[in-house]
Amino acid sequence: MTSISILGATGSIGRSTLDLVRRFPGRFRVEVLTAHRSADELADAVLATNAKVAAIADARAAPRLAERLAGRSIEVLVGADGVLEAAKRDADWTMAAIVGAAGLAPTLAAAERGGVLALANKEALVCSGPHLLDAAARAGTRLLPVDSEHNAVFQALAERPVATLRRLVLTASGGPFRNASLEEMARATPEEAVAHPRWSMGAKISIDSATMMNKGLELIEAHLLFGVPETKLATLVHPQSLVHGIVEFEDGSQIATLGPTDMRVPIAHTLAWPDRLPLDEQRLDLTTCGTLNFEPPDERRFPALRVARDALRTGGSAPTILNAANEVAVASFLERRTGFLDIISVVEATLESLVADAPGTLEEVVAIDCAARHKATALCAALSDR
Ligand code: NDP
Repeated sequence: MTSISILGATGSIGRSTLDLVRRFPGRFRVEVLTAHRSADELADAVLATNAKVAAIADARAAPRLAERLAGRSIEVLVGADGVLEAAKRDADWTMAAIVGAAGLAPTLAAAERGGVLALANKEALVCSGPHLLDAAARAGTRLLPVDSEHNAVFQALAERPVATLRRLVLTASGGPFRNASLEEMARATPEEAVAHPRWSMGAKISIDSATMMNKGLELIEAHLLFGVPETKLATLVHPQSLVHGIVEFEDGSQIATLGPTDMRVPIAHTLAWPDRLPLDEQRLDLTTCGTLNFEPPDERRFPALRVARDALRTGGSAPTILNAANEVAVASFLERRTGFLDIISVVEATLESLVADAPGTLEEVVAIDCAARHKATALCAALSDR
């Protein structure tokens, strides 16, 4: 039996992971489940899986969790420290699916203890790539990408030498505003922006898909995970979202990974790796999927791609600043304080206002993340007063 830990068990990725675990009784044993404040959903999942440890980050939700789990031998941990403690508990396989840089410390703790780390929490990697990769290397932790594009590239690359690559292509659906004008985007509401045409995801990544910052973060993620230089990383808009990633080799051969638009497929790949789980419902029938289209992204309407590429080229703390400012600007848009197009202007202005020194220690990364959040918050406040 594989022992598993799910950090962010109540989110979109966490739920899909639990769905897979439940389909294979006897194969997985759940040790740890964590959430931010969804006490009832966490309690339901803990009871359904017989998890041994439940951790909830928001102390205000803890009494409800404790009440639901009372009288059972389940350890309840509370607060950010409780989630961190839960992430340190042994497991053969860990899903890192907390959203945003809030997942950095728990994801890092999981990387430090060995086993397989299925990485969905791209913001942790973007924010502190070298630390996460070093921690995993030191502990012999196997990092497996969950993001569908990186999972696709991982499968297509199949550990071939990166030196033989000409190009690594991440596909993008184009999001809900693929054909929208800048005027339409300027008026976009949170409801319109989260309504992703192909994927059902949490609110933050849905907004990132709408601005295409998601693809920008993924370029940085791909650079870190596969050691591919920025110049060899490309993106293609592919509205059907069936081809997830393409690896082009020096001799002109291209290997692409196709699959249904269902995150359970890449999650299952990491759960069973190097084996495969039989998933009968998750089938892609090429005879019925129609025409597949590919087009270059429009960086005029989606400047996030250019801004993220610049941050990747600049290096140092630029990706940390980019990520932190984006999280703040997305939250501000979701709270209706600022507009959709303000997201990228806040990110750009934050990057321009801070010096992107090379971050040294983890404490320095956290300090840079804090400074960027502070600046982005002030910029959002000024914009909302317009
Ligand atoms: P959701 O918003 O759906 O879920 C986030 C999870 O993290 C929830 O369990 C939430 O708990 C928990 N959480 C949120 N804030 C905190 C915090 N401060 N401390 C501890 N736990 C917290 O996100 P998704 O599942 O969509 O995304 C998760 C990660 O996976 C993101 O990094 C995203 O970029 C990445 N990803 C997601 C994909 C998708 O299809 N959804 C695809 C590829 C990558 P609670 O429910 O209590 O709020």
